[in-house]
Amino acid sequence: MEDDVLNFKIKKSLGQNFLKNEKICQKIVEVAEVENSFVVEIGPGFGALTQELLKYAKKVVAVEKDKDFMPFLEKKFGSNSKLLIVWEDFLNLDFKRLVEEHSNGLKVVVCANLPYYITTPILLKILHSKLKCNLILMVQKELAVRIAAKPGTKNCGAISALVHYFFKPEIVFNVSRANFFPVPKVESAVLKLTAKEKDETLKCEETFLKLVRVSFSQRRKILINPVSFSFNISKEILKEVLNEMGLKGEARAEELKLEDFIKLSNFIFKTKKS
Ligand code: SAM
Repeated sequence: MEDDVLNFKIKKSLGQNFLKNEKICQKIVEVAEVENSFVVEIGPGFGALTQELLKYAKKVVAVEKDKDFMPFLEKKFGSNSKLLIVWEDFLNLDFKRLVEEHSNGLKVVVCANLPYYITTPILLKILHSKLKCNLILMVQKELAVRIAAKPGTKNCGAISALVHYFFKPEIVFNVSRANFFPVPKVESAVLKLTAKEKDETLKCEETFLKLVRVSFSQRRKILINPVSFSFNISKEILKEVLNEMGLKGEARAEELKLEDFIKLSNFIFKTKKS
């Protein structure tokens, strides 16, 4: 490793654990299928993944919060016309606008070895943009398992239900701690989220998003309480609807499959409209 990299002041607060195994970078880019695509990379750091992405993608926009990487990335990529670096906090960025301005109608892929401390907010931001894109993300292994958990199974949380509505998730491979510097405390996994076609049976996305969030707000408790409170619909009516769907009135959020959330959301939307 070069001296200037070794002398870099690593910021744990920014989740800085860098990939040091080139083969892992190559494998990530391979599963990302970025040929001729527009890629948004979150957190390029020293540019290990960026370098691989640039070999295949048509254009890469890399968003980095830490300006201390400027000299490294300038030296490494010079004035590569395929690359634009945006020095900003991804959470403050207008993601939708960035994609609309630069993607030029190309397939959109988000690729990142994510800072673990903000994986969920980043994912929620991309989900809420409602842009059609595929995501290849290195995340903490436990979180990958949780995100990929099917709604209606024990591990499922709000993030899993939301992800399953917009994407087909799969854990493509695990990455051991030894592949990073500094070595993190946790194991990692690469998660691939492939965009699904819009579900035409869902009447209102906003109601669905709110229902999922509210249902899991007290995940170990029965879901009709927070749902009744948030949508101002009586518990008796909600119990009846759940029974009609073949569920107990005391069902908890983790017992509902994706189609149950869609049905319940459609019922709520219809009730609030009339
Ligand atoms: N991609 C590099 C790699 O694989 O070696 C670095 C990955 S490191 C886990 C996470 C990167 O995200 C760091 O470069 C960090 O500075 C950056 N980062 C952290 N928070 C960020 C944010 N809110 N917006 C943009 N970049 C962020």
